[in-house]
Amino acid sequence: MSSESHNPKINVSDLLLYIKCPRRVYFVSRGFELYPEINAARLERMLMKELSLTYPETMKTCSLNADNLSKELEVSLSQTCLDLPIMFPGELEGVGREIFDEAEARARAKISEITANLLRAVEEYGKEPVLEALTPVKTEPFLSSEKLNLKGIPSKLVCFEGAQVPSLLKPGNCPEQGVWASDRVHAAALVLLLEAEMGKEVPFAFVEYVSFGLLRKVIIRSSDRREVLQICRRVEKIKAGLMPEKKEEKLCKECSFSEKCTSEPSLMSKFF
Ligand code: SF4
Repeated sequence: MSSESHNPKINVSDLLLYIKCPRRVYFVSRGFELYPEINAARLERMLMKELSLTYPETMKTCSLNADNLSKELEVSLSQTCLDLPIMFPGELEGVGREIFDEAEARARAKISEITANLLRAVEEYGKEPVLEALTPVKTEPFLSSEKLNLKGIPSKLVCFEGAQVPSLLKPGNCPEQGVWASDRVHAAALVLLLEAEMGKEVPFAFVEYVSFGLLRKVIIRSSDRREVLQICRRVEKIKAGLMPEKKEEKLCKECSFSEKCTSEPSLMSKFF
């Protein structure tokens, strides 16, 4: 652990929350829960992230053709479904069998596309480079920088072409090319943290769109670094008590804070 690891106040998850809606940072920093319920879609995303951690081992051990790989991934998914409640006993307590079954069915339906994309990557780049990019040298390491006032946990670190870089597991949709803007900020924040930890430049990160078996390399630019620093400063202010303006947007309909979240910042002060 670096000497820069003393109690930072901002978490990388705050930055991601801010990108979706700055007000969510305000509520979460005051102890309100954003996702009180686990539904099939959320459970499916948890399954896909865990399943993706088995891709490298599966690809190392089975012969790489579509039939074999998809069968092995099916087996891994069944095991992941059994393991998940053991790994997340608090979050999954009380989640009904039908939600598990629906999440498993949704995850299973993705296996053929994942198989096809992993095999395409092997064909295009070669087995060893693909395995290098997928195989963690550390899983969920805690990174922290007092100078940045930031801490966070990348899904994994991988060693690719001699460089140790963060890799993010993203279970949502995948853009046609590159990565989503929010994933770029996420990757840049983790690169800054890893640089603080290692004391040298980390030139890129990987974003793994796990529900598709697609891996994207993100070169981190100065503009990405600037954006991370700007969001950090805004999050600091919100955590210190600033209530951001309410955004009228589609997110509000499904937001667990919608009842508390009135248009007037001045009214909000009555709640806290
Ligand atoms: S209700 Fe809308 S504005 Fe309020 S926190 Fe949720 S998403 Fe943000």
